[in-house]
Amino acid sequence: MAIQLPDLPYAKDGLAPYISANTLEFHYGKHHRAYVDNTNKLTAGTDLANESLETIVKKTVGDAAKSGLFNNAAQVWNHSFYWQCMKLNGGGKPAGKVADKINETWGSFDKFAEELKNAGVTQFGSGWAWLVLEGGKLKITKTANADTPIAHGVKPLLTVDVWEHAYYLDYQNRRPDYLATFIEKLINWDFVKANLG
Ligand code: MN
Repeated sequence: MAIQLPDLPYAKDGLAPYISANTLEFHYGKHHRAYVDNTNKLTAGTDLANESLETIVKKTVGDAAKSGLFNNAAQVWNHSFYWQCMKLNGGGKPAGKVADKINETWGSFDKFAEELKNAGVTQFGSGWAWLVLEGGKLKITKTANADTPIAHGVKPLLTVDVWEHAYYLDYQNRRPDYLATFIEKLINWDFVKANLG
């Protein structure tokens, strides 16, 4: 069973004006699709052809001979997760259990938001900023290029893509503005809550 490109959880213009249909046409329709196609090409006829995406990621991480497959498979996983992290008119402060856990960890939502934004701004070059659950505690981390917490036994709760292809059509070089908009307008806290379990 080949890896499939999942449907977006909203229409291509479903995050506008914060993320445009034009960005989603390229980011989902071209970049994400290419990672899916490349993953399938690289696993065809191998012992990984029938494995799940998570298994492919976990079995190829750190293997220099399989770095091309790891990069593509991890990017498929990261993007499928990232789309679900957003919804129109999301963002702002969460409620309930997620809010309690954030306040317990950072003292306030504003401090959490500042740290998440800082992780995204300071990721040099391409990568991802994450809210993860590690050893029962919330943490903010960042990964370079395709790297993903699931390859390292860490549970992702939320991610934001800071590759230039994620924001350049809408924000050009203003990565901090894209991150601020993600936090204030787009985070799907229901998804984060479901991940927290
Ligand atoms: Mn991307």
